[in-house]
Amino acid sequence: MAAPKVAVVGAGVIGLSTALCIAETCPGCSVTVLSDQFSPNTTSDVAAGMLIPHTYPGTPIHVQKQWFKETFSYLFAISNSAEASEAGIHLVSGWQVFKNTPKEELPFWSDVVLGFRPMSEAELQKFPRHQFGQAFTTLKCDCPPYLLWLEKRLKATGVQMSTRKVTDLWELNSEYHVVVNCAGIGACQLVGDEKIFPVRGQVLKVHAPWVKNFIRDGDGLTYIYPGVHRVTLGGTREKENWSLSPDPGTTKDIFDRCCSLEPSLRGAQDIKVKVGLRPSRQCVRLQKEVLSQGGVKLLVVHNYGHGAGGFSVHRGTAKEAARLVGECIADLQGSSSRAKL
Ligand code: FAD
Repeated sequence: MAAPKVAVVGAGVIGLSTALCIAETCPGCSVTVLSDQFSPNTTSDVAAGMLIPHTYPGTPIHVQKQWFKETFSYLFAISNSAEASEAGIHLVSGWQVFKNTPKEELPFWSDVVLGFRPMSEAELQKFPRHQFGQAFTTLKCDCPPYLLWLEKRLKATGVQMSTRKVTDLWELNSEYHVVVNCAGIGACQLVGDEKIFPVRGQVLKVHAPWVKNFIRDGDGLTYIYPGVHRVTLGGTREKENWSLSPDPGTTKDIFDRCCSLEPSLRGAQDIKVKVGLRPSRQCVRLQKEVLSQGGVKLLVVHNYGHGAGGFSVHRGTAKEAARLVGECIADLQGSSSRAKL
């Protein structure tokens, strides 16, 4: 058969990293990314990009841990290279603080991040309303630069990129052998998945260069994540809310909550407000599907539904999606050589 042609639908962190893994692991195939939006207009551009996993209740913990480990190692290597500043990847140390001691004192990812330990009494004095905390060093992606870096890598490996809204995966059948669905919340319409739902998140991006450590309330709702140029203040988690308009009341509430954790933020300047819809699901949909219409087959690999933790696991899920694409191509090559016999 001719060089296999693969279409990846979606250009957020999941689509771009999946396309890159396919190009790296299936060198003979031609890869095209098709998306109605590219950076800076994706949900991935809004994210804080911290590598702190969120648990997917429908996915075994050892699988989630493997995805996180692979992502952490990949980005750690970038953070230690001359690419780090262009890719927007850096190490960041800080604290996760709890008003009450959590049931599970050691999260599953505690031995993947660096130097995980309980906070000392002296550190806890900074947080008079909290009684327990964990200190560790993790990685942070500055999201728009990281997405642009991925796009640059894709172009350098010969991957095509095209702006296009796909209304039905079948419209790609005549042009491509395998279609990879990385449409994020767009999968709701694209494949009619009723298990995916938006969890609206509003964040502030502020200028506060003196803030160097991250602070995260253990409830996951209030967080302060310093990036290279701006600090992300969060946040909200509003299930089934599709609105992309910033809410001024929420902006004030986020700012007040963050100032109660880090009072120096009262001096923050140039406050910008961003909203994104987390593509949430009980588990990431990471699987092959053979669609069939009138005797014609379409090979699809799904990789979407990363909810609140897409950056934390993107490389791990991209590698698995690329492996599934490799299996589809092997099946196609097997059936085309059988047909010639
Ligand atoms: P998207 O970025 O939404 O990309 C989907 C792509 O598909 C887009 O390019 C879109 O245009 C395209 N598309 C959709 N439908 C179609 C179609 N029909 N035809 C063509 N193209 C289509 N995660 C972390 O790990 N750490 C964090 O600190 C973090 N913070 C966050 C903070 C906020 C406020 C939010 C909202 C999210 C945060 N997340 C975080 C979660 C993370 O942003 C997501 O898990 C991740 O961005 C999902 O990536 P994606 O590529 O699946 O989706």
